[in-house]
Amino acid sequence: MNILLIGVQGSGKGTQAKLLSKKLNLPHISSGELFRAHIDNKTELGIIADSFINRGHLVADEYVYDMVEAELKKYPNGFILDGFPRTVPQEKFLMEHYKIDYVFWLELDDDESFRRISSRFHCSKCDSDYNLLYKKPVKAGICDSCGGKLIQRRDDTPEYILKRLEKFHQKTRNVFMKSDGSYLLKEIDASRSIEEIHQQIINCIKDN
Ligand SMILES: [Zn+2]
Repeated sequence: MNILLIGVQGSGKGTQAKLLSKKLNLPHISSGELFRAHIDNKTELGIIADSFINRGHLVADEYVYDMVEAELKKYPNGFILDGFPRTVPQEKFLMEHYKIDYVFWLELDDDESFRRISSRFHCSKCDSDYNLLYKKPVKAGICDSCGGKLIQRRDDTPEYILKRLEKFHQKTRNVFMKSDGSYLLKEIDASRSIEEIHQQIINCIKDN
């Protein structure tokens, strides 16, 4: 079973993908996390990707294809993909190479997206995630589990968030807007709770 989760930043697609991955015992592949791993490891691809992200751009398709394809090849029995495709050409590429069963579109308005992302922090030591809106640390700025300093991702500053929202509306908004009938397309209201959304996705898969 191949499942896609699409949505604006902060729509919770990564969180939902992780829950779904546990529930269905399928690997979760996040293109954002893949890129960050390449960047952290300073691979050839990572250095190129970094130069795009640094300028607030989406990474060019050819590099994304290489990275995603190398990863998807490892999982012939199914996957849950989040963060890809982000453009219509990427959608075409994916559909030409893989059979997609479900596409879940997580809808969230820009204001709420901005609010959620700008409240996001992680631990500089152990990488635990925090959000000042719904997962506050006990002590401000300090990680509950290891006492490390909490920091924001470099691209989670207001300037970058706005840039990413703009890119989202230019490019990603048009992806999978209409199903060709080969997969089930479901729009989800991403302003609801994590558990409600998870349940809706599971029910949808069960019913189909
Ligand atoms: Zn920590």
